[in-house]
Amino acid sequence: MNRFTPYLPILEKALHKLDVWRSSFGDIETGFSTDLNQLEEIILTLEKRLEGNYPFHHPQYAGQMLKPPHPIAWLAYLITATVNPNNHALDGGPPTSEMEKEVISDLAEMVGYGNNALGHLTSAGTIANLEALFVARELHPGKAIAATANAHYTHRRMCRVLNTPFLEIPVNERGEPDLEFINHHHSEIGTIVVTMGTTGLGYTEPLKKISELTGINGVRIHADAAYGGFFRLITDELPKSSDWKSLHLADSIVIDPHKHGLQPYGCGSVLYKDPSVGKFFKHDSPYTYFTSEELHLGEISLECSRAGASAAAFWATLQLLPLNRNGLGSILLKARNAAVRFAEKVDKSPRFELYNKPDLDIVAYFKEPHMRTLSELNRLSKSVFEEGMKSKENGYHLSLFKVPSAHFLKQFPHYSGEEESVTILRSVFMKEEHEAFIDELAERLGL
Ligand SMILES: *Cc1c(COP(=O)(O)O)cnc(C)c1O
Repeated sequence: MNRFTPYLPILEKALHKLDVWRSSFGDIETGFSTDLNQLEEIILTLEKRLEGNYPFHHPQYAGQMLKPPHPIAWLAYLITATVNPNNHALDGGPPTSEMEKEVISDLAEMVGYGNNALGHLTSAGTIANLEALFVARELHPGKAIAATANAHYTHRRMCRVLNTPFLEIPVNERGEPDLEFINHHHSEIGTIVVTMGTTGLGYTEPLKKISELTGINGVRIHADAAYGGFFRLITDELPKSSDWKSLHLADSIVIDPHKHGLQPYGCGSVLYKDPSVGKFFKHDSPYTYFTSEELHLGEISLECSRAGASAAAFWATLQLLPLNRNGLGSILLKARNAAVRFAEKVDKSPRFELYNKPDLDIVAYFKEPHMRTLSELNRLSKSVFEEGMKSKENGYHLSLFKVPSAHFLKQFPHYSGEEESVTILRSVFMKEEHEAFIDELAERLGL
């Protein structure tokens, strides 16, 4: 008996039924004449090598944005992968293409887009953002795409791919974008990327204010909610909730089901409020084609082949945990509670200092060195980080995060030093198991 045993009879049953369906086309010799002993040996060698991973499943792992998928997601993925449909076009996998449309419609409803919204799943957030920025460039050729210094690093890179100017919006020590800068440069800017849940510290950027600034000038807004998107389900529990409630004001939105949607990697998504942007993907097609019932997902994507198994996995997950507060929202809430409780503990600790109050479920903090210098702090952060990985059963896993010294010193002026950046500790509390583990983690860290 292990934690997967309960699922195996279900897997067996589904695979059996699918095989009955296969046989209904007439029995054939299977193409695989596998030596089962050799297969087992290889799989067990793989298993051994997988033990080289960090314990992503365990709440002691609060480092990067990593966690195993929900069992229903890998079950659905695995079963579907034996068929291997391709969602590049309806014909590549009619049932999984239908599922993709259903989950896209669920996502569109979650963000407050109307029934007309266009969208599809992607292999990841980066390609989803590239697509949204491609549309942005087509709509505002020659104009810049602007994003803050805290935006995902791939936006700048993708602007190079798109041969489009990139403008970095400065931020202050609390991660707030310089709105004056936006005002000053508004004639150059075609699109602003607003990150809803920055990858570093989970900041919610001021979508509402930015949309008020830009609305008059026809500047396009792209919300990069790759990490944070599903927090829309628990808006009332969050600071900056009015920005979350304004998500529908963005012209396009990216959300990664493989981050907070309990999916295995290979599942991002992009949504467009105005379906007419589909014309940029297929130039000879009339606009109406993209609003018709027969939406052809492959026609509105930069990618061609996409795993139907990803759509099936996300679809199955949303049947179990729908996009509402009691469904998937309940898991986001646990992550949020864990972060709030941990931040409170850090705040009360005589040895640790909170860098800032979390907007979502990512906490930034540091241990105070005896000498209040930046170099001592950098050293101590690294040592706390490394210490945690020395023990399996009593260890912890955090991540290190660099903030510009100028920002750090604004908040902690009693420190001195000439370092360019300050390394602090960062914990991503994205697993539901984190909520019950906060006291234990605090103890292991010596808070
Ligand atoms: C993770 C992330 C991305 C990139 O998404 P991938 O799925 O890793 O390609 C982009 N933007 C934000 C805000 C992210 O957190």
